[in-house]
Amino acid sequence: WAVVNTRSSVDPFLTLSTRRDLREKVWRMFIMRGDNGGARDNNAAIAEILKLRAQRAKLLGYPTHAHWRLEDSMAKTPERAVGLMEAVWKPAVARVHEEVADMQAIADRERAGIRISPWDYRFYAEKVRKAKYDLDENDVKPYLQLEKLREGMFWVAGELFGLRFAPLADGSVPIYHPDVRVFRVTDAAGKHVGLWYFDPYARPGKRSGAWMNEYRRQWHLDHDVPVIVSNNANFVKGKPGEPILISWDDARTLFHEFGHALHGLNSNVTYPALSGTSVPRDYVEFPSQLLERWLYTRPVLDRFALHFRTGAPVPTETVQKIERAQRFNQGFITVEYLASAVVDMKLHLAGEVPIDPRQFERDTLAQLGMPSEIVMRHRTAQFGHAFAGDGYSAGYYSYLWSDTLSADAWEAFLEGAGPYDKAVAKRLHDHVFSAGNTVDPAVAYRAFRGRDPDIGALMRKRGFPVRRGRGQSRAPPRADRRPCATLATRPPTSR
Ligand SMILES: [Zn+2]
Repeated sequence: WAVVNTRSSVDPFLTLSTRRDLREKVWRMFIMRGDNGGARDNNAAIAEILKLRAQRAKLLGYPTHAHWRLEDSMAKTPERAVGLMEAVWKPAVARVHEEVADMQAIADRERAGIRISPWDYRFYAEKVRKAKYDLDENDVKPYLQLEKLREGMFWVAGELFGLRFAPLADGSVPIYHPDVRVFRVTDAAGKHVGLWYFDPYARPGKRSGAWMNEYRRQWHLDHDVPVIVSNNANFVKGKPGEPILISWDDARTLFHEFGHALHGLNSNVTYPALSGTSVPRDYVEFPSQLLERWLYTRPVLDRFALHFRTGAPVPTETVQKIERAQRFNQGFITVEYLASAVVDMKLHLAGEVPIDPRQFERDTLAQLGMPSEIVMRHRTAQFGHAFAGDGYSAGYYSYLWSDTLSADAWEAFLEGAGPYDKAVAKRLHDHVFSAGNTVDPAVAYRAFRGRDPDIGALMRKRGFPVRRGRGQSRAPPRADRRPCATLATRPPTSR
């Protein structure tokens, strides 16, 4: 195969290949996975899974599988999750139309003689990105030294939660590979909190990507049990003494995974089953997504994002460029995601009626008004989140829900004295990072924020227009529009 039928191979091809005919061929091959008839067609299995899930829900006393799955979530009802998705859908589609117009203008200027089709989206979006937001990774990387950023994360954990990290001498605790380093974590009073394992380098046999592991959860039923967590990544190990330079995305991921680790380390609960990250699915990414924001703060950049040769901090203009570039293509990103999230929810709201997945997908997208230039991120026949297990079934909306929370929570700091506002940080600790699953997430969030979550912050973050209420600077939170939970401590690593 010249182009392997996987996302990591197909996306770059669709972005960079100038051969439109081949882009179309590759695109068709990719979106038809599991939907080509024959032995590897998933449609019959999906129809069967849906039927069995609906029957099980009935036996358990719920109207549908979605109602059962969401009972123990922050959203609580499918209607609430759908309400959030609908609130974001229209502005996202409006943005897609703008993105398509920008791309069409480029195609017309180049006299390509085409109408933008799904296999053109990434290709022309890349041209728009270059023209409007160009940001050279190589301008940023020299400032992003892995070990400096690790120190930056420690510093943030100290500022927000009073935690201190000290390296443990080799051999003092067991490790599973010589690359792994262990840090002892203590609280502001000097009390032992737990151990943080850092396993940053790629090696043969190691799973790809970055993640957090909870080897031992905190609890204190009859005595205090300290936490053991790890952060794992796949950076290429440098030569001894040479700094490892990473991308901005990787730096963000580092902070994200550290957010999960802090959720484990700050836990202060009685029962292990309710500890740390054992929170609902639509809530578990909220602390980690939120922690990413501190990477963008000036104190972290000034002290830790230092050029590996000159020691100068990364310039503000560069960071502003990064922030602008992150709002790029949000129409496409949001719509391809939301289309999958809505279809997932509707499939699991349909109850016991027999379902033809192809037909159902077509009808649902038509009803939604799916832009013709975009296809679902995961078409039904290849939707592993929904059908490879129960974990994310009727739960793909969770990413949007927790993103809504993290955007809104960040603004709590901005409305206060800034990212290091001690009072807001204390509320964040008391009601979110230390609470585990002992409090209903909706109640915990309200205690932290002083109100229910509002979607305005998410819209601002994605660069979508925020609808304003009459005479109000912010639309009042409505129960049916409330953004953003299940016991899945290990969300899929990719969306
Ligand atoms: Zn995460």
